Amino acid sequence: MSKKGIIAANWKMNFTLGEVQNFFEKFSPPHLCQHHIIIAPQFPLLTIVQSYAQKLHFFLGAQNCSTEKKGAFTGETSAEVLSSVGVQFVIVGHSERRQYFAEEEDILSKKIQQCLAANLSVIFCIGETLHERQNGKLEITLKRQLSCLQEFHDKKLWEKLIIAYEPVWAIGTGKVATLQEVQEVHQFIQATFQSSYPGEKTPPILYGGSVNPQNAQELFNLPSVSGFLVGGASLKPLDFGTILAVQ
Ligand code: PEP
Repeated sequence: MSKKGIIAANWKMNFTLGEVQNFFEKFSPPHLCQHHIIIAPQFPLLTIVQSYAQKLHFFLGAQNCSTEKKGAFTGETSAEVLSSVGVQFVIVGHSERRQYFAEEEDILSKKIQQCLAANLSVIFCIGETLHERQNGKLEITLKRQLSCLQEFHDKKLWEKLIIAYEPVWAIGTGKVATLQEVQEVHQFIQATFQSSYPGEKTPPILYGGSVNPQNAQELFNLPSVSGFLVGGASLKPLDFGTILAVQ
């Protein structure tokens, strides 16, 4: 039986309004695509992307949100406003936010709180750097990052969580983790989750890191992979459409 996955596009800081229109002129999900598709553009493009969502059967995602609910926080975007324009999923903890904007567990926990208060689902990204992996710090890093999941536990809102395992060294580099590496880490995440929250259903775990039309099917065949978070290849309508054809 074919597996129903979750495949999310992280467009990052790419695409103008015109380029979004070009994308949708060329993009169509495969016929009878059964996956849950999410597209996360930059904030100003949310409404235009939302206008395509119903016809093309995808959900609207955002790449970030504020730690605060509302008020005098110039330049920030609240989870509540994201929800009001149709966003249903927010990417929290992406390695680029951790690396360039110093977002650590305290900040990420507040963002998760805001998402849950606004009834938004969270794609929570975790992953080790090459340095951490090479120095035997893979497991300790992931465990530290997973400590943010306490927010879902406290609110009993596990259904709002999707985990994305994205080894930092594989993001945007063309260097994909091997199938064995992906399977081992996903199993480690599952086991860590089960020992921290016994009896709770393990959330879906996406893989992210240089997913492309050539490697998507074999990655999706792994039993522990529930889908993908796709960066670069999601900007190419035909490539993204091919990735969505995995079964
Ligand atoms: C990402 O940024 O989440 C990502 C996985 O990027 P890429 O697919 O380009 O490696």
